[in-house]
Amino acid sequence: MIDFHCHLDLYPSPQLVRDECVKRKLDVLSVTTTPSAWNGTYGLAADSPLIRTGLGLHPQLAHIRKGELGLFDRLLAQTAFVGEVGLDGSPEFHPHWNDQTLVFEHILAACAAAGGKTLSVHSKGASGEVLDRIERFRSAGIFILHWFSGSLRDLHRAISLGCWFSVGPAMLMGARGRRLVADMPHDRVLTESDGPFAQLNGEPIKPWQLERATHAVSEAWSLSDADVSLQIQRNLSMLIGDAAAK
Ligand code: MN
Repeated sequence: MIDFHCHLDLYPSPQLVRDECVKRKLDVLSVTTTPSAWNGTYGLAADSPLIRTGLGLHPQLAHIRKGELGLFDRLLAQTAFVGEVGLDGSPEFHPHWNDQTLVFEHILAACAAAGGKTLSVHSKGASGEVLDRIERFRSAGIFILHWFSGSLRDLHRAISLGCWFSVGPAMLMGARGRRLVADMPHDRVLTESDGPFAQLNGEPIKPWQLERATHAVSEAWSLSDADVSLQIQRNLSMLIGDAAAK
């Protein structure tokens, strides 16, 4: 099983969640929301090769943490994975739009200068604006749009730009999310929890509670759950291979 966007460091007991991921042999992308969280979060997974850590600066924190971009640049060589990064156009965060674009564009330029990374990207309420940057900074690497919630038109633009998608149970609860998944290329989809932010039955979702996502994808694609699991595992091997080649 694969959880390719999870905030391991933000669970009340990160070590327990990490231990369970290791026990279950889960492939995880453990994203961070600030560069200053890197050392601690990377340390959580230092002896767990299936848990990869992303260096991030979350768009909702851009205005508070933009001073950490220098630290971001110094840490970037330590990882092939970047996230969580992106833009957030929701009313609460739109007042900080200039800081958000400054941070995101800085990060994209840094990834391009480093030869390309694999990025887990937030695009809530800003899918068009995120895709504009992806188009401008194509050499920043491989883009995985996490919990994509834009229009079908933006989805098809993202597909033509070569984007990947990580989808989770919360996204697939609604008809809209399932409609989007139906159009996603089968060879560019991974599963994610976005725990502990995303919830399942009123509790923070855990990285191993993704059966519902796999099942929703299998319905959208008219495939069996087993075939979808196999496809997603194959997708990850392809992605890791591509990332390693960069
Ligand atoms: Mn997240």
